[in-house]
Amino acid sequence: MIADKLQQVHERVARACAQAGRAVQSVTLLSVSKTFGPEAVREAFAAGEHRFGENYVQEGADKIAQLSDLRERIEWHLIGPLQSNKTRVVAEQFDWVHSVDRLKIAQRLSEQRPAHLPPLQLCLQVKVSGEASKSGLHPAEVADVARAVAALPRITLRGLMAIPEPTASFESQRVPHRALRELMQSLQAAGLALDTLSIGMSADLEAAIMEGATMVRIGNAIFGERAPVRASPAS
Ligand SMILES: *Cc1c(COP(=O)(O)O)cnc(C)c1O
Repeated sequence: MIADKLQQVHERVARACAQAGRAVQSVTLLSVSKTFGPEAVREAFAAGEHRFGENYVQEGADKIAQLSDLRERIEWHLIGPLQSNKTRVVAEQFDWVHSVDRLKIAQRLSEQRPAHLPPLQLCLQVKVSGEASKSGLHPAEVADVARAVAALPRITLRGLMAIPEPTASFESQRVPHRALRELMQSLQAAGLALDTLSIGMSADLEAAIMEGATMVRIGNAIFGERAPVRASPAS
């Protein structure tokens, strides 16, 4: 049951907040529904969740359409890689993008964001632990890109996101999360109004919350194990 799993995740978040001396309201849960169908989202929605994360643009857009009756009550977040030829559908359909790693993508999103919608909420994705993944800004590039993105008219820059390489121990999980938090603090000190640190997945949410996560992105602890990743996602 998704409702039971959600309750367990909320309990983990609450315990981690207590451990970190933080208010439980300071951490927002993003339910990562990638690869699961609209009925799974409906079940989580019925259990009280209103924010969902998708990895693949087309899969997300299809789900948003299938759940159009809930559109006003769900916040949709793109958390997977975004190519420049897919920005229009994202600008038109989603509320947030966590995975922006080039100024050009943010510029296109700003140009394509429809005037009747609120600004698109953005995080910059950063490589903080030598990730093998192609996505993500080098930490040294972040300040310049952040300033340029923050100045775009139809975008609100909210913060930073990372997907560190998985490691087993709590202490080793904290290291990249801490690096991202310190990077965000340096941007805040330089005058950027950022409030979102998007870190923490099913395996490391406690370490992320200890290091200041404000939004944890949780998939399999809520929805169950996913089928193996497709070799070439049709996104
Ligand atoms: C799949 C995914 C998650 C959720 O991961 P789980 O291990 O299922 O909790 C979070 N963030 C991103 C970017 C993802 O692709």
